[in-house]
Amino acid sequence: MTTDTAPASAPLPLLVLGQGTDLRTERGVECPGDLPAPSDPDLVERARAAKAALGDRVFVLGHHYQRSEVIQFADVTGDSFKLAREAAARPDAPYIVFCGVHFMAESADILTSDEQTVILPDLAAGCSMADMAAIAQVEDAWEQLEAAGIAQRTIPVTYMNSSAAIKAFTGRHGGTVCTSSNARTALEWAFDEVGGVVGEGKVLFLPDQHLGRNTAVRELGLSLDDCVVWDPHRPNGGLTPEQLAGARMILWRGHCSVHGRFTVDAVETARREIPGVKVIVHPECQYEVVQLADEVGSTEKIIQTIAAAPDGTAWVVGTELNLVKRLAEQFPGQRIAFLEKNVCYCSTMNRIDLPHLVWALESLVDRRVVNPITVDPQVAADARIALDRMLALPGTTHKD
Ligand code: SF4
Repeated sequence: MTTDTAPASAPLPLLVLGQGTDLRTERGVECPGDLPAPSDPDLVERARAAKAALGDRVFVLGHHYQRSEVIQFADVTGDSFKLAREAAARPDAPYIVFCGVHFMAESADILTSDEQTVILPDLAAGCSMADMAAIAQVEDAWEQLEAAGIAQRTIPVTYMNSSAAIKAFTGRHGGTVCTSSNARTALEWAFDEVGGVVGEGKVLFLPDQHLGRNTAVRELGLSLDDCVVWDPHRPNGGLTPEQLAGARMILWRGHCSVHGRFTVDAVETARREIPGVKVIVHPECQYEVVQLADEVGSTEKIIQTIAAAPDGTAWVVGTELNLVKRLAEQFPGQRIAFLEKNVCYCSTMNRIDLPHLVWALESLVDRRVVNPITVDPQVAADARIALDRMLALPGTTHKD
């Protein structure tokens, strides 16, 4: 492939959430089924009864960003990586119901045994960030890096929030997965593999440009000029050969539709309006926002920081709204507010509602498996290599 042609990957068709089918991506797919009506007053009781009937045969995982109506039925709550490991630690449960999004259920399928089935209650629960790096686009970008003579000095690092296909790509090309907790360690490992932070090597960071930039600049001491953004919709990623040659971090042009929308203006408004407020944000937020925050951390770190703060403390929190609302309920002695007026729930996380959970559980009681998530064995094997490299990183914990 020459380096001056447009990306070979076909443009992704627009899908209305929950309609149409595109199983190559994380995006909304049809979720046909005989769902209970959302207005059914017995939904809570039905979920309880189905779970009790299934007993130890089912293990329900709930991501921190899930609705409260769903999280109340979770056997364990956590971030994506913790939940995948929790699933792997329950080999006796034949059914894992994953209340989260598609890439998380894929990771759980990769880390659990062949005898276990992972179920996503609504197949339309994808992740827009994961969708921003389709495997065809990434393969195409790698070919262009090869043609430019750069790939052999580049190691891919992918965030947990990516499809199994992207994790497999990373595994095949000597790279690792990272979480928002161990991104620094993962980048240090990657740079060591390609010649050290001050050497010639480069990292291709997928798919969240903000986590990549925040970690490289704030934690590894690279400069903003060391980072370039690869735009998969432009020829050569929209970069000149000189820009690519000079870069240390090649950041994929992806972002979280929730965290990427918090603004500098919102931080300044909060500081003006709430005396003594502390701002805590997730590293998926934009660099300028993260620079202004008092604290930056993964979902687990945000929870721990607020839990450890004394009554009377005021916080504005830049992460998903379901979690912020629960924190405010859990710690009434503190003033806890959502950072941005114009940001709403993660729409795909919110796809998993009580009717879908009841449907998935009652179907299991009737010995029917709905919405199983099965990763192709070769993809799973390659992705497992990248996941295992992450697990071998020093100090890697289960926190994301
Ligand atoms: S909060 Fe962001 S990264 Fe998480 S599932 Fe939603 S879009 Fe994806």
